[in-house]
Amino acid sequence: MRWSLNVGSIAGTAIRIHITFLLFLVWLGTIFYRQGGAEAAWQGTIFIVLIFLCVLLHELGHVFAARRYGVTTRDVTLWPFGGIASMERMPDKPSEELIVAVAGPAVNVVIAAVLLLWLGPRFDLENLAAIENPGVSLAVKVAAANIILVLFNFIPAFPMDGGRVLRALLAMSMGNARATQLAATIGQGFAVAFGVLGIFYNPMLIIIAAFIFLAASGEATQAQLRALAQGTLVSDAMITTFESLPTSATVSDAADALIRTTQTEFPVTDGTGHLRGVLTRDAMIKALKQRGPDTPVLEVMQGDIPTVPANTKLDTALRSLMGRGQPVVGVTDRGGKLVGLLTVENLGEMMMIHPAHPSAETERGPWGNAPR
Ligand SMILES: [Zn+2]
Repeated sequence: MRWSLNVGSIAGTAIRIHITFLLFLVWLGTIFYRQGGAEAAWQGTIFIVLIFLCVLLHELGHVFAARRYGVTTRDVTLWPFGGIASMERMPDKPSEELIVAVAGPAVNVVIAAVLLLWLGPRFDLENLAAIENPGVSLAVKVAAANIILVLFNFIPAFPMDGGRVLRALLAMSMGNARATQLAATIGQGFAVAFGVLGIFYNPMLIIIAAFIFLAASGEATQAQLRALAQGTLVSDAMITTFESLPTSATVSDAADALIRTTQTEFPVTDGTGHLRGVLTRDAMIKALKQRGPDTPVLEVMQGDIPTVPANTKLDTALRSLMGRGQPVVGVTDRGGKLVGLLTVENLGEMMMIHPAHPSAETERGPWGNAPR
């Protein structure tokens, strides 16, 4: 999902535009041009820029609401259907998630309300269907677009806000992981319906449907991972059987270890068992080709590997693994000696074995302790 352009940042949150959003704008621009020539295309461009601003303000609504609950947002990416704020995490309480989800559309409600008050009788509901008509004034179009944004975002499917509202409401009466699963299934039902509608009415809907479908399963997987991580310690999830390389090892020694084991990341430890770095398979092969087998591993390993104590909660470790894009996190004992490794793959395996951790689910709701 890296197909996006960075266009600036607001209060520490990067603003990005996804390539499909630009294509969507081009598509609209072409329609304006074909209907009314250069004048309409120029007007259309202003309209598009205003929509861009409304969508951005919508996302910032989410971002600032989340900030109230101590959640920061790395970036906001604008997609044709609205935009996604990649928050560091969702607030833990369903009521807080509900407020964060509603804060985005609320911004569009305010924009539309202000414009409607100002327009008065110059706006009627038929404008909603005539948004691409060049005869309609800009203010009417922007008001109509904001109403459409609100309606569209309340479709109860991820990644639309309606999906989050639905999940938050469900999570108030059942576990978070179960609520996400149910919300994702409902969302996928909507995606299929969109796809079918798209075949008959508008091919854009098919693309959106495919995206909603994928987003729903991605959301469900992430929620499972979070539920699992909340109730688990690092020591329960780490790899304990692995080979380390001494600081005196060469790339040739590392290559032998690569063939001998199933590991793809090799920790490099000093005489006291402290982690000095990690040599990945890719770095090893690159070093073999470019610098030869006698190169010391110390020169080609990645040095800034995060470590966590074995009694850390797994979700804390998960953040350093996912957030900073590290290949591996080292796990240490009280003396700082390396005793384990965490990788994305072994967390994936852990998830297949324990689809949702029961102790994480019981933390929520009065029915949490009911037998399942
Ligand atoms: Zn939103």
